[in-house]
Amino acid sequence: MGSYFPEVKKTVRAIVEKYNATEASTRFSIIGYTDHGSSASYPDHRPIGVYPPSKDLESSSIEGVFSFIDNLSAGGGGDAPEAMIDALDETTKLIWRDGNKIVYVVADCGAHGKDLTPSADSYPEGCPCKLNWRSVLENMKSKNIGLRFAKVANHVETTISAFKTVYTGIEVMDLSAAPHEQLSVFMVSDISSTIDTGLELSEVPTSMSLI
Ligand SMILES: [Zn+2]
Repeated sequence: MGSYFPEVKKTVRAIVEKYNATEASTRFSIIGYTDHGSSASYPDHRPIGVYPPSKDLESSSIEGVFSFIDNLSAGGGGDAPEAMIDALDETTKLIWRDGNKIVYVVADCGAHGKDLTPSADSYPEGCPCKLNWRSVLENMKSKNIGLRFAKVANHVETTISAFKTVYTGIEVMDLSAAPHEQLSVFMVSDISSTIDTGLELSEVPTSMSLI
């Protein structure tokens, strides 16, 4: 995943520059996630790291986003699935702005559990923190958080299909065949059209969590 980090930075910068002078100003949170048992990259021994640390999106800055991404490291875990449910659960604990709320998952692998991932999985019964993925998604839905995926490899397909049985509005951008260095181009275009659509509907600011 490390090769995607510069693309996420480019995306955040482009969106902030495009919208911050307008009423569609945005705030970003970044949630990095690795796998259970490989949390060395996060100081609190959890498989996830959250920016901003206060979880209040109003306190987020572009410099803070960039330095958080610079300190992320990819890899870890003996299997393909990752602690994605923990990261999604974290989005329900963020202090969002009133307005459009969008979670954008950039994923090359799915979540733990035999109903979410067909490949080798150290946790076939699901997240070892006992987070129930259906409950997490229901919670996100109840908070009106939009969920979009940038699928950068096909390994995440089973997870997305299962999620859609609970969260029918999930949007998926398939980038599995796109070169890494084009991720930001597609994401900026996708996020822009999401913000523009939201603006037409409600003319309210947007906050966004990229995980
Ligand atoms: Zn977990």
